[in-house]
Amino acid sequence: MIRNTRQREALMRVIRESSRPLTPPEIYELARVHYPKLGLRTVYRHIRDLLDSREIMGIDYPGQPVRYEVVDSRGSRPHLICRECRKVFDLPVEEPAIVYPKLQDFVIEGHEVIYFGRCRACVERAQRESSGSDSASR
Ligand SMILES: [Zn+2]
Repeated sequence: MIRNTRQREALMRVIRESSRPLTPPEIYELARVHYPKLGLRTVYRHIRDLLDSREIMGIDYPGQPVRYEVVDSRGSRPHLICRECRKVFDLPVEEPAIVYPKLQDFVIEGHEVIYFGRCRACVERAQRESSGSDSASR
């Protein structure tokens, strides 16, 4: 039980300290630094528990693996998606206020604001690839 609690806390720390929502395999890789014997199945089990206790929430975009982040008491934040590597980042600003339309045949329970672009790693990689040689200049 104690080991379970420690593992759970370690997973929470990994998720909390990340600057972006993480997939279960990413959480697994980061947590294994502290818990080399941790299994991926155990990670999935803890994720289910953390979801049940509403400590984390899933970010679920079409065509993408579900990623998890810590539930923020200030509500959900907008996300940035890199068009190239498809990583999802948190945008540390408040979400613009959106007034839900009243619909006859649909109950709106929430929404996500997504900004698309390119992350720093992808921009830098593109710059390296396009500059080619050291003497290249703009
Ligand atoms: Zn990227």
